Amino acid sequence: MEILVCVKRVPDTSENEIEVNSSGSDIERDDLVYSVNEWDNYAVEEAIQIVENAGSGSVTVITIGDDESEEILRREMAMGANNGLLLSDDAFENSDGRGIATILKAAVDKGKYDLIFTGAQAEGGAAQVGGMLAAMLDLPYASLVNKIEVKDDKLIVGREIEGGNQEMNDISLPCVLSIQTGINEPRYVGIRGIRKVASVDIPVMSASDLGVDASVIGDAGAKVKRTDYFVPEFGDGAEMLEGSSEEIIGKLIELLKANGGL
Ligand SMILES: Cc1cc2nc3c(=O)[nH]c(=O)nc-3n(C[C@H](O)[C@H](O)[C@H](O)COP(=O)(O)OP(=O)(O)OC[C@H]3O[C@@H](n4cnc5c(N)ncnc54)[C@H](O)[C@@H]3O)c2cc1C
Repeated sequence: MEILVCVKRVPDTSENEIEVNSSGSDIERDDLVYSVNEWDNYAVEEAIQIVENAGSGSVTVITIGDDESEEILRREMAMGANNGLLLSDDAFENSDGRGIATILKAAVDKGKYDLIFTGAQAEGGAAQVGGMLAAMLDLPYASLVNKIEVKDDKLIVGREIEGGNQEMNDISLPCVLSIQTGINEPRYVGIRGIRKVASVDIPVMSASDLGVDASVIGDAGAKVKRTDYFVPEFGDGAEMLEGSSEEIIGKLIELLKANGGL
């Protein structure tokens, strides 16, 4: 089984204080610690397990980003992905979700994959790239996937439904799945693994390598334009608990007790 996993480099919320920038257009991105999007890490683990269980095939991790995005590809390769592919070009900057899916589709068309994974969502929270990519490729798609079983030339796929319910589906290959967290337990990436892939060659493809028309991606092609970005004002009676996680938990328990919640 040849599997492609789309991974995104995102700010690590456990390592950073996230603040809105002075122009109110985005978060302040200077000096942030970045890592691989959590959902994507589960997707890579699932892909590795499928290939390990089948005893054949390979996992390719792909990202759209700048030179620094290479580090997340190496991390996922240290975890066990076989190949990395970096899609990088100034023309990709400020793409909307459709632009991102357009670039990924062009890369998928250059390869031959039985299965394509995205995360259920990234830090943008739009949860749109997986569905759009599947539609552009004209492939079957399942979202919020929390269970995968390979059965001959198809998959049995579980989906997490609102209210804790579970749905099971047969889906034919090739297909696109967006992966929910909790589907597995991603393996630990040790320093030895990182060293092993430190000098592995990671190909880079530009808009022209992919044959993507620059007018349909990036700022020029974005039909969804972000116009504002801010922290909403607190509503009446709202209170922000501050301090370390332990202090916040303590304050929360006291509040629940004081208000009859416990
Ligand atoms: C400076 C800046 C300006 C922006 N301007 C706009 C704008 O004007 N309009 C707008 O709509 N958006 C804008 N964005 C958002 C950006 O384009 C989003 O990353 C994109 O829309 C994907 O949305 P998401 O992160 O919510 O992805 P989701 O759809 O939530 O992600 C789902 C999955 O798609 C895959 N995926 C997402 N991004 C990538 C990637 N880069 N490489 C590989 N796989 C990926 C991953 O598997 C991920 O788990 C801007 C972002 C920045 C940093």
